[in-house]
Amino acid sequence: MHFYCTCGTCIHDITDNIPHKAYLLSDEDEDRYCEAIEAVMRDESLTMDERVNRIVISLQTRYLSRSIYQCPDCGKLFVDDNNYKLHSFVPEEPVDKHLLTAARED
Ligand SMILES: [Zn+2]
Repeated sequence: MHFYCTCGTCIHDITDNIPHKAYLLSDEDEDRYCEAIEAVMRDESLTMDERVNRIVISLQTRYLSRSIYQCPDCGKLFVDDNNYKLHSFVPEEPVDKHLLTAARED
């Protein structure tokens, strides 16, 4: 999938580890998401690989299906709504164009 920012930059989402993409977890879903992960991890009928697969395939699809993108050239943000329609937001100056990069490991 790809789309164009109004600045003309083509934003691609065709691979993993995209530095200008993140997933959106609603605060309203956070408790249910964590409880669902805990339930899967405690399910002793599953192997560890099955637990991980269930979390990655099922829970992330359910709770982390919405994405947020940042144009690497102008910094505009694009946020999926619950129907996967992108909404754009123009940042105020100065623009940090690396808002969605990986969290720091402290
Ligand atoms: Zn742009």
